[in-house]
Amino acid sequence: MKVLLVEDEHKIANSIKQGLSQENIIVDLAYEGTTGYDLASSESYDLIILDRLLPGMDGLSICKKLREMNNHTPVLILTAKSQIMDKVEGLNNGADDYLTKPFAFEELLARIKALARRPRNSVSDILNVGNLSLNSTSFEVKRANKQIDLSSKEFAILEFLMRHEGKILTKDQIISHVWNYDADILPNTVEVFIGYLRNKIDKPFSSSKPLIHTVRGFGYRLGDK
Ligand code: CA
Repeated sequence: MKVLLVEDEHKIANSIKQGLSQENIIVDLAYEGTTGYDLASSESYDLIILDRLLPGMDGLSICKKLREMNNHTPVLILTAKSQIMDKVEGLNNGADDYLTKPFAFEELLARIKALARRPRNSVSDILNVGNLSLNSTSFEVKRANKQIDLSSKEFAILEFLMRHEGKILTKDQIISHVWNYDADILPNTVEVFIGYLRNKIDKPFSSSKPLIHTVRGFGYRLGDK
């Protein structure tokens, strides 16, 4: 799961990022509204967390603009204010949920998981392709009912491929979804991780069809056909 966090208070932003990383959630961080909006509209995220008051462009304006562009990524608004009007305003601008500061990290995590589970966001927590299943909440991966242990990057790549079953994903798309935008990752790194995944997902299950396919010159595709 990949999340965009736009929060100008560095201390809060960094501690949220650290907490979410420990939950295997990949976080892109922006400290300023315009940068946040640019990332939100150009990258693909499973969830966007927006602070209400931001330099550059405020959280509600970002949310409103994304919805106008038909971007329906779930949005959680953070705010220092607790007035009911603020909440109404947030929901009217297309936000999915609202959290008042200060909040406990566990509360934020519970909201994130609840948003990820909402079916209308098409982000379901259990993905199935053939006899492979992945639970994005419990991080369980199984093939033919056998448990598979993956590193957090392997898990993130597999989840991304499974959410786009049958579609070709380029190495650049995989890099931009699985690593932070400021990480310096070479396409070869993706090949290496795809190799690790094959060794865990396909090779031990020789009686089943391989699921990870290389599409020469383009990228990778996951599917049982
Ligand atoms: Ca702020």
